[in-house]
Amino acid sequence: MTAAARSYQANRVSLAKALRPESIDELQQCIDPGVAVPFPLRPRGGCTASTDCNTSSGGLVIETTGLNRILIIDPDNQRVTVEAGVRLQDLVNALDEFGLELPGCFDLYRHTVGGAVAAPCFGPGVGEDAASLARQIISMKIVTPSGELVSISADDSRFMPLFRASYGLLGVIAEVCFRVRPKRVFDRTYKKVSHEQLLRTLETLADLPIGLKFFVLPHRDRAYLEVLRQTESTRSIHDRFWKAKDWGETVVLPTIFRSLNKVVPMPTLRYRLIDGVSGITKDLSQSRLFETGSYSVAAGYRQTGSTSDTANYSTWLFSASRASEIAEDYIEFCQSLFERTGYRADLPTVGFRVAKDPSALMSPSRSRAMIALQTSSTRTDGWEDFVIDLADFAEAHGGVPVFNQTRAVRSGYAQRVYGDALNNFVAMRRKLDADNRLLNPFLSQYFR
Ligand SMILES: Cc1cc2nc3c(=O)[nH]c(=O)nc-3n(C[C@H](O)[C@H](O)[C@H](O)COP(=O)(O)OP(=O)(O)OC[C@H]3O[C@@H](n4cnc5c(N)ncnc54)[C@H](O)[C@@H]3O)c2cc1C
Repeated sequence: MTAAARSYQANRVSLAKALRPESIDELQQCIDPGVAVPFPLRPRGGCTASTDCNTSSGGLVIETTGLNRILIIDPDNQRVTVEAGVRLQDLVNALDEFGLELPGCFDLYRHTVGGAVAAPCFGPGVGEDAASLARQIISMKIVTPSGELVSISADDSRFMPLFRASYGLLGVIAEVCFRVRPKRVFDRTYKKVSHEQLLRTLETLADLPIGLKFFVLPHRDRAYLEVLRQTESTRSIHDRFWKAKDWGETVVLPTIFRSLNKVVPMPTLRYRLIDGVSGITKDLSQSRLFETGSYSVAAGYRQTGSTSDTANYSTWLFSASRASEIAEDYIEFCQSLFERTGYRADLPTVGFRVAKDPSALMSPSRSRAMIALQTSSTRTDGWEDFVIDLADFAEAHGGVPVFNQTRAVRSGYAQRVYGDALNNFVAMRRKLDADNRLLNPFLSQYFR
């Protein structure tokens, strides 16, 4: 009996309903239609998605984190081959030792290579680097719903765009070969601004091919703007300070906010404290220590161990050419919703530019550059209603959802926004997985 089969037997007893293959062979056995396992089968990597795209209550989850080997780092040919369960953080660290990097500033390194390729994963890189990680794929190996192992190369213009951002609906990614490059340095400009200054800047900068990120405190006239530019500078990067900054922002801040939400009952005082602490943390980032950086230090490490430590979040993308108008309406939406319902997100809203990226059929920025707006909160009471109101706001502003990060997306709206791309994707999904073995109830709202 293989380790995967043993694990299945054990899990049947404990009803944990998860398999954890440790090799491609074992992965194939998990998916083999000849083996009687309950389905849907759902691949799961780091489990950092904010939706139910990685769950399978009636069937089985395939945990990919047992496929965790970095197979080849090839500096001469600037490529790396990894198994799909490798954490992105481990990959970035390993590349760093060879003076190499993935082109792009991908936040949150607890997610896995497979998850970041199967679900669109993007970050605020400079110019074209602000596209999806999946764009850097040279080739990948996938186990299809029929248990067959197939290899697809980037030259395959029919299948590669289909399999990138396919949410594990067409098969489970087992191995990926990425393009990498020698590590680059960027100059970072960071400024505290008012809402009005932010909107004016977005009007001129949001559609330009630079690295652009901003943080907004909608309930205080405060925002922070970060602009990244590639440089030839040889100034040293203060790794330790970048790590401390990240730890403050992604671990300490949410922990303090969770406590304040519990112990300070008066909303006025609580939110004054919360916004004050956010402001102080962001003000510290203005230090000259952070004027130079690289993707490996700037991307969020989020050193928390469990998914339950992660704040709630929902991300929508909007046309970059309308960024200023949308940011203005978003601030107004947050303020009026707070007045009406008493709910507000406690963490600053993060926005960043995403480059036009037609490399995947289901790419959210397939036809134009976008601005991603990520709303996060540690407050759970009221969050579910909030994301529905946020979805109404986003729909009214032509927002584009992603099915791993956007909450409360109506299926009719998804159909309208993705149009023919979604129809073509669904037609192919039905062909490759006629028995819907990989389709769970959440994804079937959009992809049946
Ligand atoms: C606080 C926070 C901030 C975030 N910020 C960003 C951000 O800035 N930019 C961004 O793009 N994302 C962001 N994310 C989202 C998240 O990092 C992405 O959804 C990530 O790509 C998911 O990786 P994962 O390994 O956790 O996948 P999971 O959550 O486990 O799965 C995501 C999807 O991929 C599928 N999948 C997983 N592994 C495989 C595989 N091997 N083969 C086929 N399908 C697979 C799953 O079935 C599911 O549909 C953030 C998440 C959090 C919690």
